[in-house]
Amino acid sequence: MPKKKFEDSFVKIAGLIGGEDYVNVARSLLSHENTTDEEIAESTELKINIVRKALYDLFGRSLITGIRVRDTKRGWFVYRWKAQRDQVEPFVETQKSKAITRLTQRLEYESENEFYHCGNPSCMKYNFNKAMEVSFMCEVCGQVLKLLDNSKLKSALEMKINEIQNEESE
Ligand SMILES: [Zn+2]
Repeated sequence: MPKKKFEDSFVKIAGLIGGEDYVNVARSLLSHENTTDEEIAESTELKINIVRKALYDLFGRSLITGIRVRDTKRGWFVYRWKAQRDQVEPFVETQKSKAITRLTQRLEYESENEFYHCGNPSCMKYNFNKAMEVSFMCEVCGQVLKLLDNSKLKSALEMKINEIQNEESE
């Protein structure tokens, strides 16, 4: 299948989750509605177990639906899969808000705590209570602990949070 310049957001998100194999499975799902894992394996030339792994993963994330139907020729049940393109945006929004929560918690932790360090790269950082406990002397190398400036880290965290918040949703 030729690579399109502007990829569908469903295909794009599949690629972010699982890489190239998922991209091929996602493209196949978009070009044939209600397709089976065997049909996808055939059209993508991927191994059936790789196709199934991608399908179950996408299904677990509610990005596709599967309907169990009887294969009339062979008499057994198969699943027919369908892309849920309207689920892409909520999925992306959930991922974004999870990332923002994580970064905000880290920023709060950095803002509420002071850290001390001896300057030796291989030694650990101390929070205020721990630094008090060791009388502001590094337990490892014995040097004096100095207040660590975490303002760069804090502004990097703030920037990242803003970046995610301002990302255009597709
Ligand atoms: Zn040290």
